[in-house]
Amino acid sequence: MEEYAEVIVDVPAMQTDQPFTYRIPEDLHGLLSAGMRVEVPFGKGNRHIQGFIMSLFTGEKQEQTKDITRALDLEPVLNDELLALADYMKETTFAFKITCLQTMLPSVMKAEYQKTLVLQDAEAAKEAGVRELFDASGELDWLAAQATGKLGTLLSLRQAGAVNLRYDVHTKNKVKTTRLVTPLLSPTAAEEARGELKKTALRQAQLLTMLATTKASLPVKHYKEQGISTSVLNQGAENGWLRFTEVETYRDPYAHREFAQTHALELNGDQQVAVQAIQAAGDAKEARTFLLEGITGSGKTEVYLQSIAQVIEAGKSAIMLVPEIALTPQMVERFKSRLGDAVAVLHSALSQGERYDEWRKIERGEAKVVVGARSAIFAPLQDIGLIIVDEEHEATYKQEETPRYHARDLAIWRGKYHHCPVVLGSATPSLESRARAQKNVYTLLRLRERANPEANLPTVDIVDMKAEYSHKNPGNFSQVLKEKIADRLAKDEQIVLLLNRRGYSSFVMCRDCGHVVDCPNCDISLTLHMDVKRLRCHYCGHEEAIPQKCPECGSRKIRYYGTGTQKVQEELQGLFPEAKILRMDVDTTRKKGAHERILRAFGEKKAQILLGTQMIAKGLDFPDITLVGVLNADTALNLPDFRASERTFQLLTQVSGRAGRAQKAGEVLIQTFNPEHYAIQLAQRQDYEAFYQQEMFIRHQSGYPPYYFTVKITVSHEEEQKAAQKIFALTNELSKQLSPQTIFLGPTPGNVARVKNRYYYQLILKYKKEPRLQGALEQILVASQQDLRQGLLVSIDNEPMNFI
Ligand code: ADP
Ligand code: ZN
Ligand code: ZN
Repeated sequence: MEEYAEVIVDVPAMQTDQPFTYRIPEDLHGLLSAGMRVEVPFGKGNRHIQGFIMSLFTGEKQEQTKDITRALDLEPVLNDELLALADYMKETTFAFKITCLQTMLPSVMKAEYQKTLVLQDAEAAKEAGVRELFDASGELDWLAAQATGKLGTLLSLRQAGAVNLRYDVHTKNKVKTTRLVTPLLSPTAAEEARGELKKTALRQAQLLTMLATTKASLPVKHYKEQGISTSVLNQGAENGWLRFTEVETYRDPYAHREFAQTHALELNGDQQVAVQAIQAAGDAKEARTFLLEGITGSGKTEVYLQSIAQVIEAGKSAIMLVPEIALTPQMVERFKSRLGDAVAVLHSALSQGERYDEWRKIERGEAKVVVGARSAIFAPLQDIGLIIVDEEHEATYKQEETPRYHARDLAIWRGKYHHCPVVLGSATPSLESRARAQKNVYTLLRLRERANPEANLPTVDIVDMKAEYSHKNPGNFSQVLKEKIADRLAKDEQIVLLLNRRGYSSFVMCRDCGHVVDCPNCDISLTLHMDVKRLRCHYCGHEEAIPQKCPECGSRKIRYYGTGTQKVQEELQGLFPEAKILRMDVDTTRKKGAHERILRAFGEKKAQILLGTQMIAKGLDFPDITLVGVLNADTALNLPDFRASERTFQLLTQVSGRAGRAQKAGEVLIQTFNPEHYAIQLAQRQDYEAFYQQEMFIRHQSGYPPYYFTVKITVSHEEEQKAAQKIFALTNELSKQLSPQTIFLGPTPGNVARVKNRYYYQLILKYKKEPRLQGALEQILVASQQDLRQGLLVSIDNEPMNFI
């Protein structure tokens, strides 16, 4: 009998989805288990690659089974739960299993491959004049070999069998250690040693004094700060006065920050109901999903904090997901100051090493609460008691590359696994989630009032920009907004201005009547393609020239719409030369920590106006903001995506929520060319429930989610014709296999038809019930390996967040 392992291997070129069997060599018996990474030989050349052990078994001796080369971990990096989650992910996102497994781990644990030339025939190498390139053990690093200028010779030696090419798995997950000094002398022994020193050996005498006064192992740094150099310490170690030890340490980006302890606030009625319902489900070990629908400032975060505190008290752990952008210092501070060291924070601004250290802390059970963006849903916590998805409607929870998972779905899966509640929170829930609450799939909890008793919802007014233009005001600021800004500047209150960048310049609108050019076949606006100067529908493929005049009113003032934040800043500064303005957009936040710095400066009142894009809409909780201005509410409205209204409503609600969060009354001004549009009208009334009803009606009429499920298939190739042929072939194939009730949108060219010299085509399927779809899509996935050899990339996006 022999021991074997089933291994999913990392084959970068041709994805291989089946586990391969490897023999476990004797020296690894008893050391391996499922979820560990190993190095294995693969393929004809026996390249060494990384693999994940799926299971172990004992069986009859099998010929031709290769041996595992070595273990890359001492403990499993993926536990049984996460291995099962990978299967679920694979099934629902149509990705390869190895991709799912790798996605769950910090990126430092992805394998890198190192190539080495290994000398086989020293004589032949000598004759060819390259013997001296190899080191004593006959090895030469591949990268170094390329710099020798002898690559041709080396390769012909390889062909002749005189040199071999070896692949090694190179892992980067280095643990950071700190060197400690452990004193070995008793005070009397130290005294004696000092007596024997030369008079001039001052530093050694000082070291002995320091060693005599402490028994603790202190970092080398501590001695250096006192002027003791490395060589003096080394001398001390040689003399037997001290010993060096290495301890593992974490790179903690928050190590030098103090978080003042905060305490639970007394909850209001709505909050109490919510906390109690969540706790009751937890106590009953019920995997219930709650939708916490609470207006901005209603104290959702307080509900999260108190619910998590209860979970920790019960000895369990919790995950709190937030959109990346919401990981502001304010949010982190609220969690750290309430829950202390139990909190690990995961976000993209951490270095790879910092992320890896946070991950290890979680894996070892040293962190009980994980606060993080999308990928924090893979946190290797044990015994989870609660999972929270804040701002659950945010599109950032969906990963836009394979595996295209939605963190909300994985949260619910993990909730079921741990028999614990999941809370989806938002002021503006996604239609999908709100509809599920309607059907009692989720339990609806509502917070209807602002939690701070002194705060009130701001008043919201709409400014019709069409009227402004007819008054010959061509700028970005209406008369009334200018007056309000001047008023707040005079009172030394703060102002937030939002310039909506979504859908920027991509559509054509009449500046006189606000008319937007729509597709004749679909209920959606046409997209401007500047590269070809034409308008195109992304749903049905309809195409037309850019009109010279407005088809509605005949005006010639028809143009594409939008301005940049920098230009607006200049205009604003021109209007208010004295005002201090902070700008926050992709350009000003590129550097690490820039986002934080801008917010801190604004919080410290170093500026009166914060002008920015979407990224300012969330999380800001400053008491002196009394005016919020939305410069252009329409841009997102006209995107050719059925979620355009929903996104506009969400954004306007979020940004309005920044005003009037404390005693001072808040005011919001929304500038728009479409003052009568329901998304804008209902955002003005701050009435999510009415918006939900209205939008559901429209989705029902036009047949979109949540009434239909959707899947998007994208094909790309360097040659347009190849991509087109493939998408039409797939369409034909699918229409044969699927039921006639399924609706095909397209195929159409991608939004940007050519990206990085590849042509994109897409097909969207809408369906209610389609039992054969899973199989059909899996077939496409399997065949995609074959397609890849012809340069075709085929991808499947289940429930796409973007239709364009
Ligand atoms: P949300 O997350 O719903 O936007 P927050 O949790 O940020 O709301 O709460 C908004 C403000 O109200 C915060 O300043 C918070 O400290 C305060 N707050 C929350 N709950 C209470 C409460 N029960 N009593 C008094 N103030 C509260
Ligand atoms: Zn017009
Ligand atoms: Zn169309």
